[in-house]
Amino acid sequence: MKLIELKEVTREYNKVPVLQDVNMAIEEGELLSIIGPSGSGKTTLLNLISGFLEPTKGQVLYYSKITQKPEDLTRNLHRVKNRLGFTPQHNSFYPKLTVKENLLHFGDLHGLKRETLIANVKSLLQFTKLFDHGDKLAEDLSGGMQRRLDISCSLVHKPKLLLLDEPTAELDPKLQAEILQLLQEVNKQGVTIVIASNQLDIVEKVSTKVALIHRSRVRMQGSLEEIRKPFLRDHFTINLHHISNRIALLEALKKMPVSRIVEEEGKVVVYPHNVEQTLQHILAVIKQENLYLHDVDLRQPTLQEIFEKVTSDQL
Ligand code: ADP
Ligand code: MG
Repeated sequence: MKLIELKEVTREYNKVPVLQDVNMAIEEGELLSIIGPSGSGKTTLLNLISGFLEPTKGQVLYYSKITQKPEDLTRNLHRVKNRLGFTPQHNSFYPKLTVKENLLHFGDLHGLKRETLIANVKSLLQFTKLFDHGDKLAEDLSGGMQRRLDISCSLVHKPKLLLLDEPTAELDPKLQAEILQLLQEVNKQGVTIVIASNQLDIVEKVSTKVALIHRSRVRMQGSLEEIRKPFLRDHFTINLHHISNRIALLEALKKMPVSRIVEEEGKVVVYPHNVEQTLQHILAVIKQENLYLHDVDLRQPTLQEIFEKVTSDQL
């Protein structure tokens, strides 16, 4: 089920397009990460999804909870805003207020009834492990706790969709993992999440969908599996120096569904119809013939490697 949809969205600043022809849907339940080099338009895209910015061309639609019909987001923002939460890149809580006071303040901004608000604050403090720190001033919290408080401030009205701009950018690796794990838990509780981030190793672990922006366009979007597909290995290499019976190996290879076998000095490069299946066969032959296999390079590309390929314009 769609929550938000961008159709042919272009956004310009001073007549310069920052994002062009973006088509994208935010589906209920997903954890979507927007990745892209610095200045590629991630924050702009988040602001368009939240209705904070209007597109120069195209439409941002939200799907009404009741009718499920698409309606213009910015024109109906007053009705949608309680269903959205936004955590900007830099902390937005008040340092001189306590943890509880901050949460109550952000809840008031959304016009929550007092009893509802107090119940939300209590469960949120427990959920984010800030319960024992409720009466501390925000400025006295550790960095990781401050980030948890900031995220809590945008969750206190129980939004359906939570947007976060680089939520782990200023944290050390341990805290990055902790925050991403927290977001994964929030997501499991039914909150749809969109993150702008460049922490690709973590993005790769937690996202259900990724969108990659480069040169003002969304170059790739989909599940990690879909993103990887064009980059999947179509071959593998066996080092013949380490093969005790190369004739047996080549004989076996030729019987398999491969489109090409190229013998180069000291190695054989195999282009099978199905890399994984063929490798399984090969491994079986190796066992059966008692061959000694040393070097098969098989690794699939990481998100970081895909990112580097796409953003270096090698495509
Ligand atoms: P990212 O979040 O990926 O770093 P941004 O969305 O912040 O990228 O910015 C994308 C581009 O738009 C950058 O070139 C930036 O300089 C420009 N930009 C962002 N906000 C404004 C603005 N308010 N006015 C003019 N240019 C802007
Ligand atoms: Mg940004």
